Amino acid sequence: MKDRHGRVHRSLRISIVDKCDLRCTYCMPEDQHFLRREELMTRDEVMAIARLFVERYGVDKIRVTGGEPLVRPDAVDIVRDLLRLPVKLGLTTNALTLDKHLDALVGAGLKSINVSLDTFDAERFKRIARRDGFERVWANIRLALERGLRVKVNMVVMRGVNDDEILRFVELTRDHPVHVRFIEFMPFAGNKWGRERVYTYAEMLGHIGSVHSFEKLADDPHSTAKAYRVCDWPGTFAVISTVTEPFCGTCDRLRLTAEGKMRNCLFAREEMDLLSALRRGEDIAPLIEANVLAKHAMLGGLPPFKPEKQEEVLHDLSARPMVSIGG
Ligand code: SF4
Repeated sequence: MKDRHGRVHRSLRISIVDKCDLRCTYCMPEDQHFLRREELMTRDEVMAIARLFVERYGVDKIRVTGGEPLVRPDAVDIVRDLLRLPVKLGLTTNALTLDKHLDALVGAGLKSINVSLDTFDAERFKRIARRDGFERVWANIRLALERGLRVKVNMVVMRGVNDDEILRFVELTRDHPVHVRFIEFMPFAGNKWGRERVYTYAEMLGHIGSVHSFEKLADDPHSTAKAYRVCDWPGTFAVISTVTEPFCGTCDRLRLTAEGKMRNCLFAREEMDLLSALRRGEDIAPLIEANVLAKHAMLGGLPPFKPEKQEEVLHDLSARPMVSIGG
């Protein structure tokens, strides 16, 4: 499906729940209110909407996200359903309870997961996630690797919080065939973002290059990440530079929130309510097409995330926090 800037959209991120069993500071505001069960898409509604995107609009990549998708009791069933579609399916999880679901997920045919981990320091983990859990998350990452899943580890790098651990995460790629992705800290409602707290793409490469020699790898044309490899190591690392070097020109991503609202961009301020229309028995195709055509060229129409634009960015931000958009 093409937008008015000529971008073809083949990737759909589906948030199936807005709750999470962690409360990460950069993702969940202190006073977050959660959806009631009846507001959430049901298992069948997720499948009905996803099938339409695949069969009518050529979506061939789906990522299941949250909040934390595994807190939803039927998360594995939803993954199993979606794996029946002709798509590449991924799951984004904080891995806190992954061990409980791994057999069923692997059994259903899941091949790839993205795990959020921002530190190797258990005390720092508690400060960022506002609850304990480092040991379990790290053990479950290793378990997923042992089970042969393709594992991406997403680290949100925040200046003065965890930027001193970048080398520790790079060294993960020496010991494991894992793909570490360093994410520039992005502005979302309630996450106390400031441009000065962004540890930039250039700083990350400088930091890594001060110790390691690494090579640039070819990136998938629609990839969000710029990938590298420390020579001869099994794993890779990459940077998602939305703040300093946005990649909107090749964006092929659309999103669905847990209550069935379509967002044409991570930073979209307008949403299209597909679920209410679906529940009224209406054709949702015109709504989907209208939402794609309305997509802004960059950053959901927000100004660039430059220091001099900070106030404008924070003023114009969507009121929806990251936890209910999904990674
Ligand atoms: S900011 Fe929006 S348009 Fe840009 S890459 Fe991200 S989702 Fe796509």
